[in-house]
Amino acid sequence: MFSDEIKQYDWDDTTRAIAAKTAADVETALSKERLDVDDFMALISPAAVPYLEAMARRSQGITLRRFGKTISMYIPMYVSNACTNHCVYCGFNHDNPLKRTTLTMDQVKAECEAIRRLGPFENLLIVSGEFPALNGVDYLERVLHVARPYFNNLTIEVMPLKERDYERLTHSGLNGVVCFQETYNAARYGVYHPRGMKSIYEWRLNGFDRMGSAGVHKIGMGVLIGLEDWRTDVTMMARHLQYLRRNYWRTRYSINFPRMCPAEGGYQPQVVMTDKELAQLTFAFRIFDNDVDISYSTRENPRFRANMMKLGVTSMSAGSKTEPGGYVSTPDALEQFEVSDNRAPLEVAEEIRRLGYEPVWKDWDKIFD
Ligand code: SF4
Repeated sequence: MFSDEIKQYDWDDTTRAIAAKTAADVETALSKERLDVDDFMALISPAAVPYLEAMARRSQGITLRRFGKTISMYIPMYVSNACTNHCVYCGFNHDNPLKRTTLTMDQVKAECEAIRRLGPFENLLIVSGEFPALNGVDYLERVLHVARPYFNNLTIEVMPLKERDYERLTHSGLNGVVCFQETYNAARYGVYHPRGMKSIYEWRLNGFDRMGSAGVHKIGMGVLIGLEDWRTDVTMMARHLQYLRRNYWRTRYSINFPRMCPAEGGYQPQVVMTDKELAQLTFAFRIFDNDVDISYSTRENPRFRANMMKLGVTSMSAGSKTEPGGYVSTPDALEQFEVSDNRAPLEVAEEIRRLGYEPVWKDWDKIFD
């Protein structure tokens, strides 16, 4: 389990090691074909800032070789904002007195149909809060069955599950699981997740092992940028990704760096990551792991997404509504986070084409299940 492996890495030592990186360390990293985590730390360090152009070129070259001129398109479908957790940064947290909605199967079907009218999406990300009595495994299984005829590729972003539940859902059309550790800082994790199942750091951390053991085809990872020192957090995630690749080598991986937006409830990010820093991180990750899918959501604005599309990013969401039922109507339920790119999916696709890239709506077929 990764909870054992991570014990050998001290948070503060990692922070200090990144801060101590020099220009020579960056040049050494850039001279290598295969990078280790130490090299990755050099590329995300302040010492690498003067090398951003060289990093961008390298990241672009690798991305072109591995992925071609393509951007994979996906769309989230929020099915429930009922949640027993108390994440201090999230508008859906249990203490927030908002109207809770868990879609019925008829509503899920209507959402699927509304999404298909927006564009030829085949990659659907099903998102839910954590309220096992309302949106637990039985519910998720029913949602998968309803969504299956409409989409070839179904991914869930829900509470961490038991291994046998992941396995069960793979028999109902589940192809991928996204789960954000939020922060790898075990000592501070409880400050952000004070109560509920999500407060159990190791249960979440080891969820990735359970996904791998259950044979989930694609695993998505991420840390929430805005909680702890982002450089240390992404270094821990790089170690985690390496560990997963070693142990579950048949699985494909994607990463995401969600930058925190102010949520209803007013939580303000502790750490702000600039566009330039996000670009540096994206280049560094691409150079470190040539094959990982790097995803940008509609949290990022259109101009930045367009710039980064050619330099390392390989998948994007479009047209996202982050409240349950949001595609059929404009419900009174609140959004989980504010969307910065409000363009229609076909507009995003058109821009991708204009920039010389191909939007890919389908990269998986039911037949592979
Ligand atoms: S981040 Fe997820 S688990 Fe936490 S309160 Fe929001 S919906 Fe619930």
